[in-house]
Amino acid sequence: MFVTTHTIVASTIAIKTGNPYIYLPFAAVDHFALDTVPHFGGKWAGKNFKVLTALDATFGIGLFLILARYTKFSILILFAVCLLAGWPDLILAYQKFINPKRLKKFGEFHAGIQKSESFPGIIIEVAIVLVCLLLIFV
Ligand SMILES: [Zn+2]
Repeated sequence: MFVTTHTIVASTIAIKTGNPYIYLPFAAVDHFALDTVPHFGGKWAGKNFKVLTALDATFGIGLFLILARYTKFSILILFAVCLLAGWPDLILAYQKFINPKRLKKFGEFHAGIQKSESFPGIIIEVAIVLVCLLLIFV
């Protein structure tokens, strides 16, 4: 699942609840629940992984800046929420681009829970992002 999807879900919970006792623990663990939902990724990313990662980062940062600008939520807390929501994929990027031998067990666990990856999964991810944006701004 794209980091953008993870971070927008956690940001939505944070913005809508406003309660750090809810949104901080949620952001820290929801990644693993969301990765079990059908989504894009895995072999479907294939040799385009670097390009997709760059696009994902661009969209994620863009959405973060929009939320920071157009909501009354603290930019620092929003950043912390996004880090909490995306940390497993940051470890994945570290393993793919820097050191594949580090944190191997975690990598196996993270890959193992993603059983529903498909190309059409991108539609589900786009739908999740749109629903979150509607919940935040409408
Ligand atoms: Zn993940």
